[in-house]
Amino acid sequence: MKYIFVTGGVMSSVGKGVSTASIGRILQSRGYRVQLVKCDMYVNIDAGTMRPTEHGEVFVGEDGIEADQDLGNYERFTDITATRDNYITTGQVYQAVIDSERSFGYEGEDVEVVPDIPNEIIRRVNLAARRARAEIVIIEIGGTVGEYQNILFLEAIRMLKLKHPQDVALVLVSYLPIPKSVGEMKTKPTQYAARSLNAAGLQADFILCRAERRIDEPRRKKLAIFCGIPEGNAISAPDVESIYEIPVNFEREGLSDKLLKKLDLKPRQRDLKNWQKLARRIKGAGEPLKIGIVGKYFGTGDFMLADSYISVIESIRHAASALSRRPEITWLNSEAYEKDRRALKELEQYQGIIVPGGFGSRGVEGKIRAIQYAREKKIPYFGLCYGMQLATVEFARHVCGLKDAHTTEINPKTKHPVIHLMPEQLKHLARKLYGATMRLGAYPARLEKDSLVAKAYGFTRISERHRHRYEFNNDYRARLEKKGMRFSGTSPDGQLVEIIELKDHPFFVGVQFHPEFKSRPLVPHPLFLAFVKAGIANRK
Ligand code: GLN
Repeated sequence: MKYIFVTGGVMSSVGKGVSTASIGRILQSRGYRVQLVKCDMYVNIDAGTMRPTEHGEVFVGEDGIEADQDLGNYERFTDITATRDNYITTGQVYQAVIDSERSFGYEGEDVEVVPDIPNEIIRRVNLAARRARAEIVIIEIGGTVGEYQNILFLEAIRMLKLKHPQDVALVLVSYLPIPKSVGEMKTKPTQYAARSLNAAGLQADFILCRAERRIDEPRRKKLAIFCGIPEGNAISAPDVESIYEIPVNFEREGLSDKLLKKLDLKPRQRDLKNWQKLARRIKGAGEPLKIGIVGKYFGTGDFMLADSYISVIESIRHAASALSRRPEITWLNSEAYEKDRRALKELEQYQGIIVPGGFGSRGVEGKIRAIQYAREKKIPYFGLCYGMQLATVEFARHVCGLKDAHTTEINPKTKHPVIHLMPEQLKHLARKLYGATMRLGAYPARLEKDSLVAKAYGFTRISERHRHRYEFNNDYRARLEKKGMRFSGTSPDGQLVEIIELKDHPFFVGVQFHPEFKSRPLVPHPLFLAFVKAGIANRK
């Protein structure tokens, strides 16, 4: 087994996840089987209980793991199927060690932070790699080097490297600022990051130089000397228009050859053509495609965090690029529609409106107003999970005349609970069991023949990933159906409504699942594709 560890320097959000995923892709293109693992330093067992505005999107795997959004990048770039194997947190590691201690797993020995915690990390990495029958496992360490929180993960790398020095490569993804007042790219913060690795007993083999621009020769040399790497191993990683250019850019720098050489492996092939084509198509797309995403205010402090809905954004991009359009995605604050209905008029300019997944009451009435507007004005509408539930509420209220219809998530006393809690959820909530207790992961569904969605998919058996506690209340099926709502997708036994759609509308679809988790740059999700097509056809 060969190991590539990816750590971050200087600051977070420099694209460590995308870099890790891109390394996976370029190694696949040389004929190797890879596995990718994210190590998160949080004590949380999974990302399910973390707030997306702080931590980014909660990505759901096939088996229902609620993980860091980077697993989404891994899937999109390498086509691996993410499961709990791909996600390790400090919480899981400690829990496993403590559980083992309680069952006498250490046979009377004292259990120590080092080496027992790093050993458990290594055990999990190996397990993930073996299950995927990988030849190379790429492990991304969350956080940045030099902080206290990820130190035991760095210790795991040190211990592994001691045992298998030939089989481990260490990549530092670092940031090189170009301060406006200076006008020059600075390497010193990255030098400090490399030193922090040294202090943890580690030496970087490669530095991916994230910056606004390409790194020039004098700075490559400087990094080589001060950080102790071969000159050719300071890899340029400038800002790009589309993240899908990154594997192609890395290969321009010969990164896969260099990594394989470091790990004493021989390249078997070279096949990145599809990605080169994709990168060219994205670059060449001219005509804009305007999509509005309606949600509650997405900001943290003074900043907007697009990361909370990264898979939705990427899915729109995949579909747009397949149709050679340049996506323009706008965040629309639903609370503005609560204050003043006239604000809804801005929705006119979009070729499609999305209400994505969500929780809680803030901005809900505004979202419902936006959905009503899209329905009445025949603007293509795509509701994802909460967006499907609220579309049901809207339809019940304004088309079926069930005035105070609502989801019991917001109004438990409503006379018309068109969306209500799934029975097994009652028990979880009563006992405050919030972690990993939603309806999670992949479930099959059956589509009605001749429905809009069956046409979009091209088949009637699907499997999609879920993350919700509430569902459509079957007591209302007949009433809503009579007024023109179609339940075009259900669980195979017909019990759970998974998809709603409307006739007499160019595209009005709500799905109880999250199609965005399965869209790929080279294979856009059929529903996103159909939604975007409807937008292009119906609205100039
Ligand atoms: N809050 C809703 C539920 O729990 C929707 C969840 C979601 O959009 N992911 O069912």
